[in-house]
Amino acid sequence: MSLLDGKRALIVGVASKRSIAWGIAQAMRREGAELAFTYQNERMKPRVEKLAGQCDCDIVVPCDVQDDEQIEAVFEHLDNYWDHFDILIHSVAFAHKEELEGDFLDNMTREGFLMAHDISSYSFAALAKAGRQMMHGRNGAILTLTYMGSIRAMPNYNVMGLAKASLEANVRYLAYTLGPEGIRVNGISAGPIRTLAAAGIGNFRKMLDHVEENAPLRKNVSIEEVGNVGAFLCSDMAAGVTGEITYVDAGFNIVGMTGY
Ligand code: NAP
Repeated sequence: MSLLDGKRALIVGVASKRSIAWGIAQAMRREGAELAFTYQNERMKPRVEKLAGQCDCDIVVPCDVQDDEQIEAVFEHLDNYWDHFDILIHSVAFAHKEELEGDFLDNMTREGFLMAHDISSYSFAALAKAGRQMMHGRNGAILTLTYMGSIRAMPNYNVMGLAKASLEANVRYLAYTLGPEGIRVNGISAGPIRTLAAAGIGNFRKMLDHVEENAPLRKNVSIEEVGNVGAFLCSDMAAGVTGEITYVDAGFNIVGMTGY
């Protein structure tokens, strides 16, 4: 018996083979889950369909998380295939490239702040709200992806650090709200990984080098390593865990000083 036999998971946030959501999808499929995917726009559709096919999945639906109607439509569409589902993966974030580099204040705008928070945090609660009915009575699990820039200041991450702080509070409020229905809500705080989204962050290469030199495990993490923890957190093996942010970062977050 595998970890996720009999579970159905909706994966939001696959953009490429490098996506963290793809690492999670592969781990979940390997552990027996049935999958469904969303794509952000028509340009992404063929790419996501191709990846979904590799997971024996033919449920691929549009979802731009800035559009309330599309969020509702995801679950109406899903309802044509599944009468319920068990797992929701939210692996979505966006901020303007100009706001992910340089001086935090010089580059911050009201519009950029709202956009980053809308796509990267509000969407998590919006998807949970729209999917709640279909997760009813399933002892389900909801998972999002965050980064340590939520709790520590660091170069270039800027407005996304604020959005991730909001997202992590979202994890706790959703866990508190959905816990009585048996739904668990958690976040993974991943170390830096080279993906399309990461390419928008100024000097990303330097972040990777710094982690490799200073993390206790002296390496960067892979989407497979994050995927495995995601599969565990969404399985019944983690039935007692909710409202938590779990670090998958080769231990980097526990280091105060290195070099001695
Ligand atoms: P990714 O492959 O580029 O995934 C980001 C996803 O967000 C893409 O699928 C993107 O779709 C989607 N997205 C952006 N705006 C959207 C919208 N309006 N509607 C629907 N989807 C939208 O990059 P990733 O690194 O795997 O990012 C996944 C999550 O992990 C993000 O929350 C990120 O902050 C987090 N994370 C990443 C790292 C890292 O170093 N890579 C570390 C910690 C946490 P399109 O490409 O189609 O726009």
